[in-house]
Amino acid sequence: MLQPGEVAAAAAKKQKQNSRFINYLKSFPTADDVDRRISRLHWQLFAEYQCTNCANCCRVYNVALNNEDIFRLAELHDMPLQAFVDEFLVWDEQSSEYEIPPPCKFLQENNACSIYPHRPQTCIDYPYTQRPDRVFHLHSLMSIAEVCPIAYELVERLKKDYQFK
Ligand code: SF4
Ligand code: SF4
Repeated sequence: MLQPGEVAAAAAKKQKQNSRFINYLKSFPTADDVDRRISRLHWQLFAEYQCTNCANCCRVYNVALNNEDIFRLAELHDMPLQAFVDEFLVWDEQSSEYEIPPPCKFLQENNACSIYPHRPQTCIDYPYTQRPDRVFHLHSLMSIAEVCPIAYELVERLKKDYQFK
């Protein structure tokens, strides 16, 4: 597995190959087969790797919150809704969503999340490799593989699985 600081440069070198791989995955295997293999690799890689060695995602993304996240986190902090929003969130005009700006204020020095059991849904779902219909989101997967060592490794192992060069 690559070190968190190595992922962006390694992924940049794979850009052309990854574009060809997207076309391959859309043309040859069935969508079910791609999903099955990605799902197997997802569980395998998350069993092998501790995210507290990384926290890249918590440092680089704006984290979009849904209404449930906002209510839950305001309650957790024992703050009125507006006070919580003012202190922790920014409004994104483009997506019309409240977001936690990067680096996330809930990320601790040891890379642990201070609100882990209550973290936003998007943090639970990231890097989205356990979702169905991955074949329809391959561009997103390749872009995530520029940030996330697990996603990067998953793409590389998937290539080996399909003997793609
Ligand atoms: S809420 Fe927690 S898991 Fe989500 S970005 Fe912040 S530190 Fe990371
Ligand atoms: S999900 Fe990916 S980017 Fe986020 S901490 Fe885990 S390995 Fe790093």
